[in-house]
Amino acid sequence: AALVGRRMRRRRKWGRVLGVLREVEEGCETSVGRLKQVVDAMAVEMHAGLASEGGSKLRMLLTFVDNLPSGSEKGTYYALHVGGTYFRMLRVKLGGQRSSILAHDVERQLIPQHLMTSTTEALFDFVASSLKEFVEREESSSSFPLDRRRELGFTFSYPVKQTSVSSGILIKWTKGFAIKDMVNDTVGTLALGHYHDEDTVAAVIIGTGTNACYVERMDAIIKCQGILTSSGVMVVNMEWGNFWSSHLPRTSYDIDLDAESPNPNEQGFEKMISGMYLGDIVRRVLLRMSQESDILGPISPTLLKPFILSTRLVANMHEDDSLDLAEVAEILRDNLEIPDVPLKVRKLVVNVCDVVTRRAARLAAAAIVGILKKIGRDGSGGITSGRSRSDIKMRRTAVAIEGSLYTNYSMFREYLNEAIVEILGEDVAEHVILNVMEDGSGIGASLLAASHASIDRDAVQ
Ligand code: BGC
Ligand code: MG
Repeated sequence: AALVGRRMRRRRKWGRVLGVLREVEEGCETSVGRLKQVVDAMAVEMHAGLASEGGSKLRMLLTFVDNLPSGSEKGTYYALHVGGTYFRMLRVKLGGQRSSILAHDVERQLIPQHLMTSTTEALFDFVASSLKEFVEREESSSSFPLDRRRELGFTFSYPVKQTSVSSGILIKWTKGFAIKDMVNDTVGTLALGHYHDEDTVAAVIIGTGTNACYVERMDAIIKCQGILTSSGVMVVNMEWGNFWSSHLPRTSYDIDLDAESPNPNEQGFEKMISGMYLGDIVRRVLLRMSQESDILGPISPTLLKPFILSTRLVANMHEDDSLDLAEVAEILRDNLEIPDVPLKVRKLVVNVCDVVTRRAARLAAAAIVGILKKIGRDGSGGITSGRSRSDIKMRRTAVAIEGSLYTNYSMFREYLNEAIVEILGEDVAEHVILNVMEDGSGIGASLLAASHASIDRDAVQ
């Protein structure tokens, strides 16, 4: 009788845990039908954001970048990138032909913790003096005169409302910064993408944060009537991290994460997709499972700590290909203080990582297709020359993509790629190329400095 009782208790315990899992799976459901609704919602919101200021949760910020590097840029250029944790300084030597980056030096500097919540002045004083030293180091090894003017591209991983190509106002700090006081990093990625591949029409970053920008026709940007660019186009910084739609599959874990975040009701899309948050969604599900039963042992106090589980660790657990999931056990033990658990439980943990990451990757795919739809590159309408589907004439379309989730997390990348094919269909998807960029926000910024250098000079004269 004692044995039967124990077995029944164990079964009930697993029943509750599997119930939690099933609920998460249902909450994170991303059928192709639902993804197509997200595609449509994205395209509709893009229209609304372009129509009027505040017309959508998508800010659709003007960047005043109206031409992208063509490959003919030549000379030495600098870039400065202020990101989530680091800022970086770059020096790039361009050869005057597509993809001819002759040399490139980078220096990375950790942003001291106290400057992240200090004044803008203090932060930028620190950045400026580091930059001065960096430029001086070039001096000693080159023949450039000290007083020669240098072109510097500046990318910033935060939403900025620009007033020209070289000035702007920071809208809000995201990703844990809280300072009160310039080209967005995605624009750097787009520039680098276009430097390598002239069919590039958009750029996406999926790293700590997430965002996208793309090339829009001036006449489609209703809210900036009167502004003309010689190229007739302008890069628009979407700030898609703030995208919202009732079609997004949202769980109670997302709602709690948002409510407990420093910026509730903001960056809703980013909170379901980017590296800053995926780990914490997984942690919240594991905590719930731990509260429902003792399969993870007694509730670990570490598991109660927000952001204790990074997305990198989620990726490592998800991609543990050992038979006994040894790495999963190790991460649970070393990082969450969850003592050795049996294989069955380790598999469950991997399952949770999979559900959360799969949803993120598929939603990102839908968002990308949303952009393609907005600019008529999704193979629907207007491009069909033949009668049947197989006759579709679709222009080759490249999207530059960057960020640790896509580049370092292969399951994420595979899910994203797979979803793009599911949504567009193979015939169309084969014309859509995702080009991985490395350091668009650095090298891309220096390319922008190069392609805008002559324009700036003309404006000054
Ligand atoms: C910011 C964007 C940025 C993105 C990628 C987001 O948190 O709001 O401006 O482009 O992160 O770094
Ligand atoms: Mg970044």
